[in-house]
Amino acid sequence: MVKKFGDTVVLNGLNFTVDKGERVTLIGPSGSGKTTILRLLMTLEHLTDGYIYVDGDPLTHELRNGKRVERKAKDVANVRRRIGMVFQQFNLFPNMNVLENITEAPVHVLGRSKAEAERRGRELLEQVGLGDRADAHPMQLSGGQQQRVAIARALAMDPEILLLDEVTSALDPELVGEVLGVLREVARNTDITMLIVTHEMQFARDVSNRVLMFDQGRIIEEAAPDVMFSDPKEERTQAFLQAVL
Ligand code: ATP
Repeated sequence: MVKKFGDTVVLNGLNFTVDKGERVTLIGPSGSGKTTILRLLMTLEHLTDGYIYVDGDPLTHELRNGKRVERKAKDVANVRRRIGMVFQQFNLFPNMNVLENITEAPVHVLGRSKAEAERRGRELLEQVGLGDRADAHPMQLSGGQQQRVAIARALAMDPEILLLDEVTSALDPELVGEVLGVLREVARNTDITMLIVTHEMQFARDVSNRVLMFDQGRIIEEAAPDVMFSDPKEERTQAFLQAVL
């Protein structure tokens, strides 16, 4: 795939596959294109060239009669809804309470009944340790609590793929652990495929099967986490890890 912003080439002939159920961490210097990949998967950015497939289904573009064509919005939405994302800045709806934040999409996008969405929403809130905060508004919660609501909201859509974009970067240090703890549980108890952009290398080591090192829009090294973090081969990977570890 290729992604340009104007004349700036951000991803250049990138090609990689993530297996079903795999947990892959993307690392690399700022500006190497990690967030752009997640945003392309969420269809928040337009793919300049190439294709993205979700379990064999094309996401935004497909090859038809030898030509690259854009898919219909409805078809894009059908594939796109199988992917969930948690953002650095939580992005909760400020005018809705916690339970409403979680039930909004299951009701309006998946067509679930309000009662069913609320039952599942409360179950997810229990799982993220916020069973007693269903009626609170985001403003009344700490950053760590808001991020746990955002995780519950993503899970409420039963995603096959979960994208995590530096989900602890906006948090005070003492709140990072509670969010990573919830995500470790999700990794342990589900088979959701995960793509993770994080600077929390211990977390990456604990939950991921594979680490991809990006530099200037390309993968320059990939390895299992214990290999990548203890014995990186590429000089640029060594320099990057030395700076962040
Ligand atoms: P970081 O760790 O800082 O988030 P990253 O590896 O996630 O870095 P991206 O955010 O994907 O990198 O950015 C890749 C490149 O694309 C950067 O050079 C960035 O300036 C550029 N870029 C990202 N979004 C836009 C945009 N909307 N318009 C123009 N350039 C952009």
